[in-house]
Amino acid sequence: MIALFMDVTGRSAGPGAATHLRSQPRSARSSPRVAALCRLALCFAAIASQAGPAFQFPTANRSLLEPSGSARFFAPTAGRTWTAGQFGCVRSDGWQMHEGIDILFTQKDRRGEPTDEVRAAADGEIAYVSRKPGLSNYGIYAVLRHRIEGLEVYTVYAHLRQVRGEWSPGASVRAGDVLGVMGRTTNTKSPIGKDRAHLHFEITLLVNPSFSAWLKQREPDARDDHGMWNGRNLLGIDPAEVFREQQNRGARFSLLDHVRQQRELFRVYIADTSFPWLKRYPQLIRRNPTAERDGIVGYEVSFNFNGLPFRLVPRSRTELNGPQKTRLLSVDEAVYRDSPCRKLVFRRGQSWTLTAHGDELISLLVR
Ligand SMILES: [Zn+2]
Repeated sequence: MIALFMDVTGRSAGPGAATHLRSQPRSARSSPRVAALCRLALCFAAIASQAGPAFQFPTANRSLLEPSGSARFFAPTAGRTWTAGQFGCVRSDGWQMHEGIDILFTQKDRRGEPTDEVRAAADGEIAYVSRKPGLSNYGIYAVLRHRIEGLEVYTVYAHLRQVRGEWSPGASVRAGDVLGVMGRTTNTKSPIGKDRAHLHFEITLLVNPSFSAWLKQREPDARDDHGMWNGRNLLGIDPAEVFREQQNRGARFSLLDHVRQQRELFRVYIADTSFPWLKRYPQLIRRNPTAERDGIVGYEVSFNFNGLPFRLVPRSRTELNGPQKTRLLSVDEAVYRDSPCRKLVFRRGQSWTLTAHGDELISLLVR
C-alpha cells in the first residue's frame, strides 16, 4: 500500500514547480477527480487510469521501434558505431556514462546541416532555455518540465541550432509543439560532425533546487552558468527503454512503475527526514507501518546504477543497527558488473564503500 504517500493532487513539490503550470497536462486535468477517488481509497485505480504512453518522439526519427532500426536511430560518436549513442555505460569501453540518447538527423539542407524540427515530447512547460552555445557541452538547449502520473519529470533537448524565440521559462507547451531546430552546437573542443548530427535527448529527474548553493560551498571556483539546470543536478532514465516499453505495453504503460522498478545497484541509509527529493518525489516513498508508528528518523534509499534514488523506505530508531549516520547498506554486484560507469561504489577487499562520486551524490541529495 503506497497510496497514502502519493501526491496525486498535482500539487507543487518544489519551488516554482507546478505553480507556473499554465498548461493542463493529462494528469493535472483529472486531478480533482483523482483526489476524490483517493479519498474513497481507490487511489490505485485512479492512478492506473492515467497511465499509458507518456512521451512521443522529439524528432521525425522513429526508427527505434522498427526491426533493425537502431543503426538508423542512434547517432554514433566519432569513429564508433551507433551503440555509443545509447543511454548508459556506452562510452570509453563501458566506463563513461551517456546521460541521454543521441537521435540521428533525418534531413539536411544544401550545406549538409540538419533541419529536423525538434518537438516537445509531452505536455508541460519550459523550465529553462540556454541560448549561448559556448556555455555548455549541451550547446543551445532547452529543459521542459512535465507532470506525468503525478511525477515531476523533465526532458532535455540539446545541441540545437536554435530555440524558437517564444519559448521562455514558464511558457506552456503541448506535446508536439516545435521547440526549435536540430543543430550541432556544443562547447567541446571536437565539433559534432555533420554526418553524425543529432538531438541529445534526456528524460530526467531533478536532484536539488539548491544546487547552486551546494556547488558554491563545494567548489567555490566552479562556473555556475545554469543554476539548478546543470547536468550534474539531473538524473536520467533511459528514454529508449521508455519508448520501447510504451510500445509494448500500450495503455498499460506506467512511467511511475517504470521508475519504481529500476534495478538496484546500492542501498544507503540516510539519517535525514526532510531532504528535497522526498518532497519532490513522494510517489517513490514506500510505507513502513513500524516507522510510522515509532517515529521516522531516516530513510533507506535504493539507487539504480546512475545514482537515481527510486525507492525510499522510512525507518525508525528501533529498526536501525548501529550509529545513525549516512551509510552504505548493500551493493548488488551483478548490477555493478553490468553498469559500473558512474563509479559511485567500489570494492575494497571484502567490503564495498561509496566513492567520492557516491559521497558527492548523497551530499547533493541531502543538502
Ligand atoms: Zn548525447
